[in-house]
Amino acid sequence: MTEPINMTIRLTGITKSFGEFRANDAVSLLVHPGTIHALVGENGAGKSTLSNILYGLLQPDAGTLEINGRPVTFDSPRQSIEAGIGMVHQHFMLIPTLTVAENIILGGEPAPLFAPLSRKRVHREILELSRRHGMELDPDAPVSTLSVGEQQRVEILKVLHRNARLLILDEPTAVLSPPETERLFTALRSLAAEGRSVLLVTHKLDEVLEVSDEVSVMRKGKLAGTMPTREATKGSLARLMVGRDVLLRTDNPPQQAGKAVLSVEGLGYVTPDGRAKLNDLNLRVHAGEVYGIAGVEGNGQRELFSLLWGTYDHSARVSGNISVEGVSLIGLHPAGIADIGVSMIPEDRLGCAIVPEFGIEENLLFGRHRERTFHKGVGFDREKVRRETKRLIGAYDIRFSGKLNPPISSLSGGNQQKLVLARELERPGIRLLLLAQPTRGVDIGAIELIHKRIIEARGRGMAILLVSSELEELIALSTRIGCIFEGRIRHEFSEEAVRNGRDHASGFEKEIGLHIT
Ligand code: ADP
Ligand code: MG
Repeated sequence: MTEPINMTIRLTGITKSFGEFRANDAVSLLVHPGTIHALVGENGAGKSTLSNILYGLLQPDAGTLEINGRPVTFDSPRQSIEAGIGMVHQHFMLIPTLTVAENIILGGEPAPLFAPLSRKRVHREILELSRRHGMELDPDAPVSTLSVGEQQRVEILKVLHRNARLLILDEPTAVLSPPETERLFTALRSLAAEGRSVLLVTHKLDEVLEVSDEVSVMRKGKLAGTMPTREATKGSLARLMVGRDVLLRTDNPPQQAGKAVLSVEGLGYVTPDGRAKLNDLNLRVHAGEVYGIAGVEGNGQRELFSLLWGTYDHSARVSGNISVEGVSLIGLHPAGIADIGVSMIPEDRLGCAIVPEFGIEENLLFGRHRERTFHKGVGFDREKVRRETKRLIGAYDIRFSGKLNPPISSLSGGNQQKLVLARELERPGIRLLLLAQPTRGVDIGAIELIHKRIIEARGRGMAILLVSSELEELIALSTRIGCIFEGRIRHEFSEEAVRNGRDHASGFEKEIGLHIT
């Protein structure tokens, strides 16, 4: 290594517009060598835009970049890579059929990919780098056989192998389990200790406080503040992010649970090509209870929900039973399941829960068009529909600008989700609510309201099954928590354990982590 590893990056007055919209507005940022600098902000605050400008993927309309006091411009990532900047994207860009080593050299150097000499050298370099930073990997393993956490390690090693001195990681923990997150943080600390800099883009405040040295907060395209992390608190960061005080903890009073509403017994699911996704899964959700399912994605959560909602692959082999107050759901179609009082907020909001080009009114009353109360003669009672829409918009704080009934695609993710929740919670006769990742891609302000409405629904005696990859959310909302691993509930935390855990949150997350990996 000839160049020094220390690099100071200064961004001054970075401005970037997409059409009329200012995604970055005069943002200035200083990243010191040997530090982990967290960049936080709500969805849409402009974090990815700023990262992409630093990486040369986007060019700013105004503003300057300096490395060690020298002005630089990047027309493409090739130039930023040469200058010592590396980026690990939110979505990995690996080729699954190639090995770890092949992916790491791909596009990185002119040497032929399979030349034996360079291959040997690259192997040695990869092993050395991965050991030094606690990111063990087999250079010969095909990427398709790796877990998500391991794939991320490949991305990081790829960037390090090109000798990046500033690493940008955009929401790296979104796809990781708690133990994987811990390992990532250990690796990042080791990189910083070596003198490299890390720009960690995230929206999770606990992570910022745990791992970063400095933190910058963005709000609506502007820099809302920068400070040493030891001077920051969760409350102060949330306030900078949202622009007002935020309730960070949903009030979750104890409640007596009622009769069993959902019973899942000995549930098995084998895909048509023979992979077992659920394996003797048992759980029970009572009235007035939120049952949270903790787990790393891909351990059967999706298959369970597809069975609960009647959308599973009918050529799969299903065994066991699912019933709601004694009525079996297996074989019922989604409309039939909805009719017996089951509501669902699916993970894929855009694909399953709304029709983007329709208006708010239509989207709010989907599935409710059969209710007598909205009928008048042979048509709809427009006046009643309008009144109900207005009530729900108010009660769920659904925000939009301008027109009376704009297409729902013009709403932000958080407002779309509030609308889906309003519709699914307000249908009459709901006994069971199924929630899959209810606040994914939703901003803090909307999360606050969604959590409140979920607790209220529980208070009215609804039985709620919640799957979330955010442990913080599970702990905040759940009465009991079941840890899913390889298609079965491997461990269940009782009501008392969850209540105690809520009061000592950080230790509890680690405890849950032990049962899901
Ligand atoms: P963050 O990463 O903080 O969630 P982004 O930087 O991705 O935010 O986006 C900021 C805003 O800029 C968003 O409202 C987004 O819709 C908009 N935006 C981002 N990229 C583009 C683009 N290529 N074209 C148009 N709008 C964009
Ligand atoms: Mg982003």
